[in-house]
Amino acid sequence: MKLLFELGTSGRHCDILPPCDVPEMSPECLRKKELRLPHLSETEISRHYTELEKQVYGVNDGFYPLGSCTMKYNPKINEAMAALPGFAKLHPLQPDYTVQGALELLRRTEKYLCEITGMDAMNFQPAAGAHGEFTGLLMIRAFHQKNGEKNRTKIIVPDSAHGTNPASAAMAGYTVVSVPSGEDGCVDLEKLKEAVGEDTAGLMLTNPNTVGLFDKNILEITRIIHDAGGLCYYDGANLNAVMGITRPGDMGFDIIHLNLHKTFSAPHGGGGPGSGPVGCKKDLAEFLPGPVTEEKEDGSSGFAVPESSIGAVRSFYGNFLVIVKAFAYLLTLGADGIPEAARNAVLNANYLKKKLEEFCPMAYPGTCMHEFVMTMKDLKDRTGVAALDIAKGLLDNGIHPPTMYFPLIVREALMVEPTETESRETLDEAAEGFRALYQRALENPDEIHEAPVKTPVRRLDEVRAARKPVLRYFYD
Ligand SMILES: *Cc1c(COP(=O)(O)O)cnc(C)c1O
Repeated sequence: MKLLFELGTSGRHCDILPPCDVPEMSPECLRKKELRLPHLSETEISRHYTELEKQVYGVNDGFYPLGSCTMKYNPKINEAMAALPGFAKLHPLQPDYTVQGALELLRRTEKYLCEITGMDAMNFQPAAGAHGEFTGLLMIRAFHQKNGEKNRTKIIVPDSAHGTNPASAAMAGYTVVSVPSGEDGCVDLEKLKEAVGEDTAGLMLTNPNTVGLFDKNILEITRIIHDAGGLCYYDGANLNAVMGITRPGDMGFDIIHLNLHKTFSAPHGGGGPGSGPVGCKKDLAEFLPGPVTEEKEDGSSGFAVPESSIGAVRSFYGNFLVIVKAFAYLLTLGADGIPEAARNAVLNANYLKKKLEEFCPMAYPGTCMHEFVMTMKDLKDRTGVAALDIAKGLLDNGIHPPTMYFPLIVREALMVEPTETESRETLDEAAEGFRALYQRALENPDEIHEAPVKTPVRRLDEVRAARKPVLRYFYD
């Protein structure tokens, strides 16, 4: 496919901009060389982008079981609400009294999300999950500093954690202590007890964890950390399995982030932007980033900066329209729909797991939560076909591959999260497609090394793309 720069004919253009209504620059300020822009008509531009759109794959194209990412359907009503001019056309510097509706929306979203998570206060500034983690860690640091405990320099992270957890802890200036998981995929309590001490600032944990298991020792885990004087941080990326059913606040967590772009149905994965609000218990609310929303004496809504705030972590109030989408989703599902979505997410994952484990080994036996991890280790040992090859093979079946090589504690991992928005027929079809592929891998491994063959581009050199990205067309 040609690039925009390779299309078009010199002199062709489309006049979609209104005439210039500001004074022209004096000639010496103007560029000497003509800007190298493509010369295209509106039709050509439109066709170009439509063609590009056909070459990508998204949740609206088909099954997208990307583990840990919760690629659920993004209801169109959310988009319609976020596009309302009263939300979309606001300016962040407008006086409070002109944006009372938007403030009310922020306050109500905060209230609902606090209820779902068992937190007391929340701030919407962080723009993603990892950004929320970093924010939460700065709050943990502010808390210990206020208590005069500067010696608390270590953050404990299970070895199954998402890579962003240790990365955020390191960025916040902490030393990361990794605790191993037991045979059962959950935190090894004895190892955890050995890891805590007077230098423990806190623990970061997601529950259900990244192998799709709910850690049944969670109360014991948070107690061990609290007894050592640390705080417990909940990575809320996996909340889709438990929302409306159990709450991180009741599990003993002090600070959390949510991924509105996962659990609460805002688009992500190239379709962003995201939102990673940070919530906390009462005692920590003074450290939240500011501004936060508050109710004023006259009953109207306004903003305030918490007493010992860590400061702003992003401009203004975060990605406001993502919060509008999450709010629309919360209202659409309601108090009954939220836990029902979680139950269906867990049901779908177990249904698919049951079908796949007839022929493919799982990393952990038994029932799972909203996702599960398969291992291609046996297959690789027998045939040379690796998790990567299987993932590429699935592309030819019109399925987005599961997450690959994560979590790191499982060899040749493929992590599957179907989400609640898939039908039984889709799951059946995906299971059959996967079975056929697995069979082909056993019988004709070389063929799978060639996959994909039906996609717009064949197997890409992902390492080179990451190491030597070519991000512009002209070099001058
Ligand atoms: C996605 C994810 C994150 C990071 O969230 P982003 O919004 O991608 O920054 C953290 N932890 C887990 C378990 C995740 O799945």
